[in-house]
Amino acid sequence: MKIGLFGGTFDPVHLGHLSLARAAAEKFDLGRVYFVPADLPPHKTKRKLTDFQHRFAMLALATAEDKRFVPSLLDAHTGTPNYSVETVRRMKSALGKSDKLYFLIGMDAFKDISTWRKPVELLGECEFIVAARPGHSLGDAARALPASLRPAETELRALSKQRSGTIVLPGATIHLLDELRERVSSTQVRAIAGRSAKQLSRYVPKLVAEYMKKERLYDERASTLESAAANGRRMLSLHQGHRQ
Ligand code: ATP
Repeated sequence: MKIGLFGGTFDPVHLGHLSLARAAAEKFDLGRVYFVPADLPPHKTKRKLTDFQHRFAMLALATAEDKRFVPSLLDAHTGTPNYSVETVRRMKSALGKSDKLYFLIGMDAFKDISTWRKPVELLGECEFIVAARPGHSLGDAARALPASLRPAETELRALSKQRSGTIVLPGATIHLLDELRERVSSTQVRAIAGRSAKQLSRYVPKLVAEYMKKERLYDERASTLESAAANGRRMLSLHQGHRQ
């Protein structure tokens, strides 16, 4: 079976994540996509993350309706930062001989792949499916590769015209998915978490919106951010009113 591994912080999972997983599953005929929330993501150390249990519960709700989608505890409570190279190896050791693993990732994250732990080894472990962002090309994906895998400049220039497709290199295979429409991010959802469940359902699955309200997730931060924004708008209109 073809299997996708989709890692992330998922704080919270949103419609952009689901549309990436759906697009990848459809295009590559993935029989299963494991959503693997990181307990300790190495790149997100600046802010305190929502408890792993809540992030996992929201993933379970978000993935319930699609039988290909499975929330995974692979990166739960390992006690050390969750490096993708180790996560992938752990998953591969649990797969059968006829299974083939793909790593699912958004272009925003893929752009930093060279800074991840053992990027060359990671890229050699399985094929990558990268979801394009508006304006991005296969050339941008290839340019993000570690220097030892990166194609020559002339090839990169030719690839910059391709908005989707596959590049097969010695040591890495990258598939670029067509641009996705869902522009939402978890940062955005956290900032508007004070809104009603109905309003939040434009960005996260309905059950996730209801769970966020029930558990009062992100409330404090959201109200601070929204009132700061409202204050900013008020200040601006006062200022403009004054000048008129
Ligand atoms: P944050 O805003 O907190 O940084 P995020 O929305 O980027 O979070 P993550 O859990 O960090 O979510 O991302 C997991 C994966 O999903 C990454 O590979 C990221 O590039 C991808 N991703 C995030 N948002 C989208 C989106 N709207 N469309 C496609 N891919 C996305």
